[in-house]
Amino acid sequence: MAGEVLDMQADESFWDSLVFDGIDDVDVEAVTAAFGTVDVMARGRAAGAACPDCGRFSNRVHDSYVGRLKDLPLGGQSVVIRLTVRRFLCGAGDCPRRTFAEPFGH
Ligand SMILES: [Zn+2]
Repeated sequence: MAGEVLDMQADESFWDSLVFDGIDDVDVEAVTAAFGTVDVMARGRAAGAACPDCGRFSNRVHDSYVGRLKDLPLGGQSVVIRLTVRRFLCGAGDCPRRTFAEPFGH
């Protein structure tokens, strides 16, 4: 059984299809397993995003945070999906919004 788990971890497209089905712009960065829990780290693939208020594109990263996207029970292990979400700066002087979070389609 342990061998099966290792095979799954090596196959990032497996995680892409399982976890991020319907979310297009995500790269799996790392998969680690410890103490019966599998951690999947992922982040957005896009260079930037459009400001939701003014629509201008920004690729200036202000900061980022790690959100816990979902937990999946899989093969007797618990799988925790963590998604790094970047916050971009909107540089437009006439826009009331200063920062906005990277959008992910669902
Ligand atoms: Zn804006």
